[in-house]
Amino acid sequence: MASTQSTHVPKSELPYPPIHKDAKFVVLSDSDGTITSFDSNGKLFHLTDNYGFGNQRRRELNIETLEGKATFRDAFREMLASIPLSFEECTEILKRDIKLDPGFAEFYAWCKAQSIPVVIVSSGMAPLIRAVLSNLIGEEDASQIDIISNDVKIHENGKWEIAYRHPESGFGHDKSQAILPYRTLNPTPTLFFFGDGVSDMSAAQHADVLFIKLNENGESDLAKYCDKVGIKNIKIQNFGQALPIVQNVVDGAISVTEALEIGNVIGTQG
Ligand SMILES: [Mg+2]
Repeated sequence: MASTQSTHVPKSELPYPPIHKDAKFVVLSDSDGTITSFDSNGKLFHLTDNYGFGNQRRRELNIETLEGKATFRDAFREMLASIPLSFEECTEILKRDIKLDPGFAEFYAWCKAQSIPVVIVSSGMAPLIRAVLSNLIGEEDASQIDIISNDVKIHENGKWEIAYRHPESGFGHDKSQAILPYRTLNPTPTLFFFGDGVSDMSAAQHADVLFIKLNENGESDLAKYCDKVGIKNIKIQNFGQALPIVQNVVDGAISVTEALEIGNVIGTQG
């Protein structure tokens, strides 16, 4: 998979939060479809389905992306461009409609108490992510949590477009660039990664423990990809199922390898 294993480092148009250099454990998580559980593809796709060009065209673009015929960057831009609403309206609708993973607030509180950094790594836009997260973990934590994502460019006429972090990358935001700096630290922290979809393909392979969030139908595009190429993972339906596994790894009760084996036994087949 040349597209996910490129050694080329794309130029970032947006700043990164500082690396947590002294952390023994770091949690990195996708946002849309992982912390939010509206569907496997996330909150912005909800707007595309209901206000933009609809579910059928979106599924077509998803399949084209999975088959390598389209890039995630261009497909996502096309989806967003079909939404005839202001950015403010989008934010309000998403804050109102998006369901959040029922286990995430407890998971996040436990990590915070243990001083384990939680970094959101998203293909979405930072202002939307903070707005939606404020419903789950409160305004203060939502304003402070590390988010590595794309941004939004709002034009004077009210039209808006996604501002990609890595415009030259087919992912728009190459999520592997958020996780790879942790791989070069010495000692290397244990990295937990949570994801669900196509945009997580580039980062998933660099995690020590990969959790894949399944949607309500027990499916995930990321699970299909990882199972196909042999990337071990733990399939979960909510963060509550991941918390005891993360706790056991952090406590040293089980190794990373044992965690992955357990997950593959209890996990649903993707
Ligand atoms: Mg996602």
